[in-house]
Formats: sequence, C-alpha cells, structure tokens
Amino acid sequence: MDTQITLAVLAEYGVQGVQANEPMARHTTWRIGGPSDLFFRPTSVIELQNVLRAAMRLEIPVIVMGRGSNLLVLDGGIRGLVIQLHDTFAQWTLTEGCLITQSGRSLVSVANIAIREGMAGLEFATGIPGSVGGAVMMNAGAHGGEVKDVLLWADVLEFDGTLHRMTPEELQFDYRSSVLKDHPAVVASVAFALHPGNSQEMTARVRQWAQRRSATQPLSQPNCGSVFRNPPGAHAAALIEQAGLKGLIYGGAQISEKHSNFIVNLGTATAKDVLWLMRYAQKTVHDRFDIQLETEVRIIGESELALGR
Ligand SMILES: Cc1cc2nc3c(=O)[nH]c(=O)nc-3n(C[C@H](O)[C@H](O)[C@H](O)COP(=O)(O)OP(=O)(O)OC[C@H]3O[C@@H](n4cnc5c(N)ncnc54)[C@H](O)[C@@H]3O)c2cc1C
Repeated sequence: MDTQITLAVLAEYGVQGVQANEPMARHTTWRIGGPSDLFFRPTSVIELQNVLRAAMRLEIPVIVMGRGSNLLVLDGGIRGLVIQLHDTFAQWTLTEGCLITQSGRSLVSVANIAIREGMAGLEFATGIPGSVGGAVMMNAGAHGGEVKDVLLWADVLEFDGTLHRMTPEELQFDYRSSVLKDHPAVVASVAFALHPGNSQEMTARVRQWAQRRSATQPLSQPNCGSVFRNPPGAHAAALIEQAGLKGLIYGGAQISEKHSNFIVNLGTATAKDVLWLMRYAQKTVHDRFDIQLETEVRIIGESELALGR
C-alpha cells in the first residue's frame, strides 16, 4: 500500500486527518500494540460513511475499535485502516426514558448520565471502561446486568457505508458476544430503554461496586479486564489460581496477583509476552482440570512487523 496515494484518495472522499503508522499502544488500555498503517477518528456519521466508502474503493482492510479495553493488538501492528470511535463520536440525548447516544461515548459516562437524570437500567455499566459501540459488540455486562437487557436498537453501518437499524433479536446477544463478532459492521448509535429510578440509591449501589472493583482488580496497572471467559459453572480466575499461576511473570507481563483472570503490563510488556502467559494458562488449566479456557479479549493484528514496509 502506497501511503501517499492512499491519503490522496481518502482526501478525495473528504477524509482529512488520517494518521499513518500510528502506534496502537497509545490506544489500548494494555498500552500494547504495534503500528496501524492508517488510523482515523471520525467525528460524524458522514465522515464515517466517507471513510468506509474510500476504504472499500481502495480495497483496504478495515478494523473498528472503541476504547481498546478488550483488545490485544499484536506487536507487528495492523495492516489496513483502524477506525476508532471514541470520545470524538459521542453526542447523546435523553427523551421519554430513552437514552440515545453515538457509539464513541464511554459506557461509564452514559451510565452516569442516566443515574444523574434519575433513570435506571445502566448502573451495571459504571465500572466497564469501554465505549458504547464496544459494549454492544461484546454484550458487556457486570453485577447481573448486560447490554442486551437495556438495548432498544442499534444503528449499524455496513462496511459499504449503508446504514440500518438492528433490534436486540437481530444482534443475537449471548454471553460476551453478539452477531457482530462473525459479521463485523460499525455500531454508529444506540438507544437504551431506561425506567425511572432513585439517583441517590443508584449512586450508593454503584459506589459499593466501585469499592469492590478497586479491592479485587489491579486497576492501577495497564490491563484489559478479564482475559478469559468464565467456562460453564466455573470461574476462570479460580481455575488459574488453583493451577498455581497467580503472579506468574513472563517478560514484561504478569498474571495479576490481585485477580488471576487479569494479565497486567508491568511497563515493558509486548503482545508476545501476554500471549505466552495466555497460552501457558490455557495449557496448564487444561492439563490440570480438563477445561479449555476461551479468550474473552479480542486478538488482532500481525505478530511480526513485515520487513521492507
Ligand atoms: C479494568 C477493566 C474492567 C473491565 N470490566 C469489564 C466488565 O465488568 N464487564 C465486561 O463485559 N467487560 C469488562 N471489561 C472489558 C471491556 O471494557 C469491554 O469488553 C468493553 O465493552 C469493550 O469496549 P471498547 O470500546 O474498549 O472495545 P474495544 O476493545 O475497542 O473493541 C472490542 C471489540 O469491539 C469491537 N468494536 C468496538 N467498537 C465498535 C463499534 N463502534 N462498532 C462495532 N464494533 C466495535 C472491536 O472491533 C472489537 O472486536 C473491562 C476492561 C477493563 C480494562
């Protein structure tokens, strides 16, 4: 891919401000990840449609991301275009019990707006540090609540730029999963159906949850939340701990001493270090308990930076 020609074609589509060779470590909560060839943060649906159409014409692979709080980007980085919907794509309105927001707004902020406005339903989300779009894609959840419980609809852009509205049934939500895992498309905006609640009671409840999180999760170290899904009837963290792996260090990464289903970046971790710990934990748990741990974290990119790029 000739970057100069590509940037010129993108400009023809009115797409300005695309960055080349952007280190993805700047955009993931793990602070890990090699460079993406091209990186763009749209500020409107039109810009988003334009960049998708230009990428299609140029036949460039597209990856969409939010806050990067559930992503392991490999050390060789990403060949193609990364579109990040986070912060710059974050307008919202609240009318008649329905909170409509663009997908780049942080889920925590949406949940806090709802609580402040006396609307209940999103309290479970106050500790989930991703974007609304990422939360829909992952059917994010905590404390017995999930996105699927409150989602009314999501407006989704296909990679050819066409926009359509999807219902929860069409999104086929499952445990930390939706249809978008197998059929990638871009969640552009979302409506949550809420009901009246008491702001003070909700605030007290989420404070307790926040205290529990900071007591049990390594929130001061770069991490990506739970690395593995909980297998049916078991907890990934308990299995990893019982396998004797709590605190194990490889390179610059460590299986957290505070929560065994978290891997933390001690400061110099590469994706290779994290992957080694993940594979080692999977093998050890399998050998010991005959249970296969599946990753919750999404792994993207290439392991090696291609020579002569
Ligand atoms: C400290 C910590 C605690 C966490 N606790 C929880 C928890 O309690 N419960 C929980 O469920 N998760 C938790 N997570 C994981 C993570 O925050 C969620 O999975 C979150 O929903 C991911 O959102 P994101 O914007 O960061 O997505 P990203 O990590 O950027 O992307 C994740 C996936 O979503 C896709 N995606 C992102 N945005 C869009 C979009 N607009 N349209 C289409 N696809 C998109 C990406 O392609 C990727 O496949 C935690 C993470 C951390 C770091």
